[in-house]
This record gives sequence, C-alpha cells and structure tokens, in this order.
Amino acid sequence: MTIPAPVSHPALSAADPELAALVGAEEQLQADTLRLIPSENYVSAAVLEATGTVLQNKYSEGYAGRRYYEGQQNIDRVETLAVERAKAVFGVEHANVQPYSGSPANLAVYLAFAEPGDTVLGMALPMGGHLTHGWGVSATGSWFRGVQYGVRADNALIDFDQVRDLARKERPKIIFCGGTAVPRTIDFAAFGEIAREVDAVLVADIAHIAGLIAGGAHPSPVPHADVISTTTHKTLRGPRGAMLMSRTSHAKAIDKAVFPGLQGGPHNHTTAAIAVALREAAAPSFREYAHAVVANARALAEALLARGFDLVSGGTDNHLVLIDLTSKDVPGKVAAKALDRAGIVVNYNTVPFDPRKPFDPSGIRIGTPSLTSRGLGTDRMAQVAEWIDRGVAAAAKGDEETLAAIRTEVAELMAAYPAPGLPIGA
Ligand SMILES: *Cc1c(COP(=O)(O)O)cnc(C)c1O
Repeated sequence: MTIPAPVSHPALSAADPELAALVGAEEQLQADTLRLIPSENYVSAAVLEATGTVLQNKYSEGYAGRRYYEGQQNIDRVETLAVERAKAVFGVEHANVQPYSGSPANLAVYLAFAEPGDTVLGMALPMGGHLTHGWGVSATGSWFRGVQYGVRADNALIDFDQVRDLARKERPKIIFCGGTAVPRTIDFAAFGEIAREVDAVLVADIAHIAGLIAGGAHPSPVPHADVISTTTHKTLRGPRGAMLMSRTSHAKAIDKAVFPGLQGGPHNHTTAAIAVALREAAAPSFREYAHAVVANARALAEALLARGFDLVSGGTDNHLVLIDLTSKDVPGKVAAKALDRAGIVVNYNTVPFDPRKPFDPSGIRIGTPSLTSRGLGTDRMAQVAEWIDRGVAAAAKGDEETLAAIRTEVAELMAAYPAPGLPIGA
C-alpha cells in the first residue's frame, strides 16, 4: 500500500512531513480495518481536540486549590470539571483524575494501602488478570507478594471457592478483581463479601468495562469496592489516562499516593479530554452505545459458536469474546497475524489452562467497542464472524489470496461506517 497524503494536520505536515505521513497512514489504517482489539476504541473529534491543546504547556503539581505552581486559574477549573463529572457518572464520593495510565493508577493503590512485601491477591495473568495485579514480571509482583486466583476448569468462571480459601489463608492487604480477558460479568458483591471477611482493601479494576458501567450495561462496583481503578481510554472512549475513585474516607490516602507519592505534574490536556469524554458518557446516547457494544458482542459470539468456534466460558456478557482456537488447529499468533493481513485487527491471547506458551498461546481475544463506535449493529455480526472463520481457515492453509480478498471486503464495508475522530470518510 502507498502511504496516502496527509489530509489534515497542516502545521505538522509543514514542520515534519515524515511524521505527518505516518500519522496519515495510521488514520488510513484505522479507517480501513475492522478493529476488534477489545481495549481499543475511536475517541470523538472533541476528545481528540482537547488532547491537542495548550493545556499541555502547564505545570500543575498538587490538586485544585492547593498547587505548587501559580497560574492555575483555568487548570483548576478543568480538573474540577473532570473530577465532578467522574463523581456524577460513576456515583462516587471521590475521584482522582491524575494517574498517567492504568498501570500507574494501580501502583498508586499499592502505595496507598500496602507496604513492600505485603501480600496481594489478584487474578492470574494467564487466567485473564492484569500484570499489575501482583503478577511476577511486574514490579507489583516483585515488590509485593502476589498470590493468584483463577477460573474453574469446568466453566471458565471465576473460582470463588479458591478466592475465599486463598483470602482466608493468605490474609492479603489488597484484593484485585477485574481483568483484561474476562468475558463474563464480574460479581463485585461476592468479592466484597470476601474482602470484608478478611479485612482486605477491595480494588475493582474496571479498566475494560468502565464504559459499560457508565452506560448501565454492567453492574457497578460502587457499593462493594473500596477503590475503583480505571483507564479512561477503553470502553469509556476517552484519552489515554486513568482515574482512581473511592469513598471520602480513602480520598486522602489515594491523593497522596498519586501525588507526591508516585507522580509529578498531571497531564492537563489529558485531564481536559477526560472531562470531555465524561460529558459524552453522561449523555443518553452513551447508554445506547454501551448496550449496543454488549448486544454486538453477544451476536458475534452466537455467530462464532454457530460456525463451530470454542469460546471461553461459552460466550460473553460484556464487550469481549475469547476464542480458543485449539480445535481449529491454528495457534493464536498465526491466526492473529493472518487476520491482520486480512484487515481484521485482533490480539493473540492465552486461554485459561493454556497448554501453549504466553508468547505463542492458543487463543485470540476480540471485542466490539470500536466497531460499535462506527455504528455497526447486530445485523453485521454474522458477516464479521464469517470473515473471522474464513480468515482462520485461510491461516491454517497459508491461503494468502483469501486473506487479501477479505481485506478488500472489509475495507469496502468500513468505508460505509466512517469512524469518529478520523478525517477520512467523515
Ligand atoms: C488496560 C488495563 C490496565 C492498564 O492500563 P495501561 O493504561 O495500559 O497501563 C490495568 N488493568 C486492567 C484490568 C486493564 O485492562
């Protein structure tokens, strides 16, 4: 493919044509492909504009009304808007919108509620948890003592007997729930009961499902969790960033941990874009979006099951579907790379009890947040499943011709659904 001429960003094109061409190429790629990575999305033009503002020029260590730098007349109001909107959207008493991303937000939670060497309980990474929930290769697993729960072998649902037994035996300071490859509803009440019994701080990490919760398409952790950690850039459809939310009683500990405990100046342009995204998330149309994401995922899961795919847990309640490709005789990585050549962007992923290695696992992970942002509905999911089916079969046979044919079909359909924020086709 030739790199298209950049259609926007005039200053960038003049100052750095090489970089501008890359941005233009990425815009084209995001326009032409079927993006199924469940942690990705398309932000609105308004969110995108907010991230590109002069707010980024300003240093603002501290919090609104108590900064270490002068000139905060506007920045204080920007951050306060973001905080108040977060509190309203999620129904929480306190929100900190400064964490640079999901991983530092979680690190701030450790800093607030545990000492190095303390025990923390989280979902094992290969079972669907996140690195920062105490997994060994993460600082959270080397500076703290990570103990891991998983899912049941018979139904791939979280093994609450194991969670309770481990909590009683290990007495963790912190329990994490939520993950990166969990296709089913998280039972926050069940985690809350266990955490209270062993006097642990329960952290609901809703990074993946924050938009579904905001839109009422997944139960809220608010009544059950001590701390809610989330990224802002996945289903919530905001800029890359994060938030920590809690009751007022934990506000001081969390704020102190984020700044000065872990970070310096907040990224004010990101804070502004978070505020914009939260305003969007408070609108009735976002409720429709969140429910459409789930309806699309369910329809896609049904269509894949009908084509003989094995889905972890047999389906989905949320925005993501985890496919075990063992029965198709194609490793996840081979399938993911072939689908990429077909214009269908997914990621290879471990499945629970995966006999293969994490860098070469048995599954692929797909999700519907991005395609739903483009306006694709349940009536298109049979087509998406057909492409995945044909693409996986082509991957098994090394059939590049079929992959190229799918790529053309995908680009044709995508052209009919212009993506938010892109200067192409809009
Ligand atoms: C994405 C994610 C994170 C980390 O977010 P980054 O912004 O990539 O650091 C943390 N926890 C969960 C459950 C996630 O899905």
